[in-house]
Amino acid sequence: MSDSKFQEIGRILREHRRFAILGHVRPDGDALGSQLALALSLQVLGKEVRVWNEDGMLEKYSFLPRAQLLTKPPQPAEDFDVAIALDTAIQNRLGTALPAVRSAKIWINIDHHLSNPGYGDVAYIDSSAPATAEIIFRLIKSENLPFNRDIAENLYAAISTDTGSFQYPKTSAHTFEIAAELIRTGIDVGRLSQLLYEDYPRRRLELLRELLRVMRFRRDGRVASFGLSLKTADELGVLPEDNEGLIDHLRAVHGVIVAVFFEELSDGKVRVSMRSKTEVVDVCAICQKFGGGGHALAAGARISGTLPEVEEKVLAEVCARIESLGSNTVLK
Ligand code: 5GP
Ligand code: MN
Repeated sequence: MSDSKFQEIGRILREHRRFAILGHVRPDGDALGSQLALALSLQVLGKEVRVWNEDGMLEKYSFLPRAQLLTKPPQPAEDFDVAIALDTAIQNRLGTALPAVRSAKIWINIDHHLSNPGYGDVAYIDSSAPATAEIIFRLIKSENLPFNRDIAENLYAAISTDTGSFQYPKTSAHTFEIAAELIRTGIDVGRLSQLLYEDYPRRRLELLRELLRVMRFRRDGRVASFGLSLKTADELGVLPEDNEGLIDHLRAVHGVIVAVFFEELSDGKVRVSMRSKTEVVDVCAICQKFGGGGHALAAGARISGTLPEVEEKVLAEVCARIESLGSNTVLK
C-alpha cells in the first residue's frame, strides 16, 4: 500500500480537531489496542478524541494503558470532524458505535480484513497485515505522529493477541521488527504477556471443560466443533469475553482442518466462529455465504436461528467443503 494513503490520512489527522475512534462489536485485543494507541497519539497532538465501541472496555483488557478512555457510546449522538473505524470488516459491525456518530465530515476505515469492501471516504486496507495495530504503527512512524510507551504497549498487546503470540502465518520478519521497536520503549514483555495470557478467571476453564464435554468431530476428524447455549453460559456465569480463543483448542488437534464454535446470543442469533488450518479451505468464503466475513483462516458470522438449526446448517456447508477436497487431502 502506498505511502500517499498514509500522507492523506496524516493530513486529515493534523488538520481536524474532533475525532471518534471506533472499533467492532465484541472487541478483541487488536481492536481495543489499536483504538487506544491511535487515540493516545492524537491526544498528544492536542486533539479531542472519543474512543467507543458497543461493549466498552472489557474487564480482561482493562490493564491496557489508559484503558478508561475507551467506553460504550453515550446518548445522545455526537458530531465529529472525523470518524475512524478500526479493525472493522463491515460498517455495521460497529454496532451501536455507528449511530452514536451523528455526523462526521470524513470517515476513515483502517483494517486488515480481506473481506473489507473499503467503505468510507478514505480506506486503508492491508490484508497482508497480521493485525490492524501493525498498520497503526506504520502510520504513526511514516507520518511522524506522537509515539510513547503507553502507545507502544497498546500496540504490542494488539499485535501479540491478533498473531496468536507471533505464531499465525501472517506474522512476518517485519512484525518482529515492529515488536522489537515497541519493546525498546521499555515495555515489560513478561508482565504484559502474563496479563494477556495467564491471568484468566477460573470460570473460563470451567467453560472449556463444558465445551470439551460437548465437542464433536466429523468427516474423519477433519471438522471439529462445539457449541454454547445461553442456558449453559448462564449456569456457568461466564461473560462473552471468556470464550475468546477457546476454539484454538479444537484447531490444534492433529488432523483437524476446520474448527467451529457456536454461541447462542440473546437476540435470536447464533455467533459462529470459524478457524481453518490451511488456505485451501477459506473459512471467510464459507462465512460470507451466511452474511459474515473475516480472514481466510479465521472468520465469523451471526446467523438467525436456534443453536441446533445453525449448527446443522453451517456444519453441512463446512462438511461439503471438506468432502470436496477428496478423502486423501492431508495437511502438509
Ligand atoms: P472471531 O471468531 O474471533 O470472533 O472472529 C474471527 C474473524 O472473523 C475476525 O477477524 C472478525 O472480524 C471476523 N468476524 C467474526 N464475526 C463476524 C461477522 O459476524 N461478520 C463479519 N463480517 N466478520 C466477522
Ligand atoms: Mn484484527
